[in-house]
Amino acid sequence: MRTNRRDNMPRPQAESPKTPKTPIDWRRLFSYLAPHRARLAIAVFSLLFATGLGLVFPLVIADLLAAVLAEQGYAALNALTLTLIGLFFAQAFFTFVQNYNLAYIGEKIVFRLRNQLYAHIQRLSLEFFVLRRVGEILSRLSSDVNLVRTLLTTNITSLLSNVLTLLGSIVIVFVLNPALTLFILVLIPALFAVAIVFGRPLQRLSTRYQDELAAATADAQEAIQGVRIVKSFVREDYEIARYYRGTEKTFKTALHLTLYRSAFGALMAFLGFGSLAAILWFGGREVIEGRLTLPVISSFLIYGVSIAATLGGLAGFYAELRSTLGGVRRVFEALDTQPTVLDAPDAVSIDTAKGHIKFENVSFAYEDGVEVLKDVSFEVAAGEIVALVGPSGSGKTTIVNLIPRFYDPSAGAIYLDGHDIRSLTQASLRAQIGIVPQETTLFSGTIRENILYGRLDADEAAVIEAARAANAHDFIMALPKGYDTEVGERGVKLSGGQRQRVAIARAILKNPRILLLDEATSSLDNESERLVQEALDRLMQGRTTLIVAHRLSTIKIASRIIVLESGKIVEMGTHDQLMALDGLYARLYNMQFRLPEQTAALLSDVPDMTDGIAASESQRLSTPRVSLLGNLGRRAKTE
Ligand code: ADP
Repeated sequence: MRTNRRDNMPRPQAESPKTPKTPIDWRRLFSYLAPHRARLAIAVFSLLFATGLGLVFPLVIADLLAAVLAEQGYAALNALTLTLIGLFFAQAFFTFVQNYNLAYIGEKIVFRLRNQLYAHIQRLSLEFFVLRRVGEILSRLSSDVNLVRTLLTTNITSLLSNVLTLLGSIVIVFVLNPALTLFILVLIPALFAVAIVFGRPLQRLSTRYQDELAAATADAQEAIQGVRIVKSFVREDYEIARYYRGTEKTFKTALHLTLYRSAFGALMAFLGFGSLAAILWFGGREVIEGRLTLPVISSFLIYGVSIAATLGGLAGFYAELRSTLGGVRRVFEALDTQPTVLDAPDAVSIDTAKGHIKFENVSFAYEDGVEVLKDVSFEVAAGEIVALVGPSGSGKTTIVNLIPRFYDPSAGAIYLDGHDIRSLTQASLRAQIGIVPQETTLFSGTIRENILYGRLDADEAAVIEAARAANAHDFIMALPKGYDTEVGERGVKLSGGQRQRVAIARAILKNPRILLLDEATSSLDNESERLVQEALDRLMQGRTTLIVAHRLSTIKIASRIIVLESGKIVEMGTHDQLMALDGLYARLYNMQFRLPEQTAALLSDVPDMTDGIAASESQRLSTPRVSLLGNLGRRAKTE
């Protein structure tokens, strides 16, 4: 038995919305360039050529000026001008080749990384998603991945090109006149000093900016997703103010950041152009002294300008690098997060389960030290329907979540047909389980696609049969495009009951041995309720079913009821047995279940009429395979 397995598993990572501070693994970062070696070589060669040409042209200009000054005539001027145009053309060409190839590599990296990250996130355990906000996860997929691209392509090549231009210019200036070079070399320690002074605040502010922006975006995303709640509470202004406060913070941080960035850039440019003035002063003296010609001093000036521009470029690179690293870290951190629920190395797959479930002394805590299930033991026979009842927060949903191993118990074990579920592969375990949650999620796509989600390779006949059994076929056929009707966010709006029936069809198509139902607390109108209930009855037929029950009708189908209080089983038995106990169940029954039903019965319109409609629709809907009578018979038996 492997009751202590969880102790060997990696602990959940400390979750924090802030950017983590682990050092960047550069080798890992550069490994993304590895598949693009050839293209990268082309890009780098083009970059070398373009930079080289950029370094040569001031010399040609110097020659050109010398020719004009020496009055060599038009021929020399024309030839030199043509050379210059040729140089610029070649430079433009190489720049194009460089940019295209870099962008190509960049897009490929983004494409690959995004899919790698998405695949990784999809496979993570539920815990990752519960602890994070959707907006935050999405921002990793979009903006953070883009930052990796920027760092690997634009930043690194601009660094390369700037460094080459800088070094090249310095070397050429040195060859032309070593004394002048001193002016430039004096600059370098000054530049380092400035970079060190500005580097820290730049990084701190840009990390803060990204974190604040992510938080504000997540706020907006939640409010937009929950727009119904926002509107029903008339909290538009509240949400607007919340977003305003969030973005105001980012605005202030951005201003701060801009201040530092601008000052940094300006200082770097000043150092560059100041050195230009120094070159002019010194060069002018040399010209006056007759030691230097005007053409040479002109080319010096051009080199001076390019050195200044390069320094500006390097400053920009440095500032951007500091901001980019945060995003790169977040991507790597997400890629390094391990699922907290893992398949055992020797896990076996279970093909067809019978559906016997046993909880043995199961305890569980979402957070260390706060046990929400305490020593829970019970068994559900194959094919049995058991209802979980208890006050809110007593642990019903948690019990349901442990069966498909969304979480592992902290003590005790859960068995399926006698196998500890931790000894089974998660995929094969979950293949045995159908879940119908409280909130029905339909994905964007057609109704057929939504039903097929239950079993992707099912044929049309199976889809229709499932829809019939779920009392969904008729309403689907009445839709403009039938099974091809688009639903989900941008499609037709289905009623709550219709959505539930599509979800039930999906579960029927999956045909699981075990069914976990979290009954919706919100009640539907009578007819819809009846159609859903019928569909559920058919779905439950012959399957082990655990229901988090909120309705009397559901409790009555269950052969046994487990009553939970504060994570402990306090009562267990049939409805009659529990009523006879006159304990928690009897109290809940009187408060939660009986009264609302009585009230509903009193409030409902002429009951006979609704019954009549429902019955006639049921007759039309009933399929040859699943007969309504069979269901009713079953229900009568269990009662
Ligand atoms: P029920 O379904 O009976 O209402 P739950 O199983 O949802 O109860 O919750 C049981 C307890 O576990 C509650 O105290 C709840 O606050 C806590 N809980 C539920 N989900 C989480 C979670 N993801 N993280 C931390 N605590 C949780």
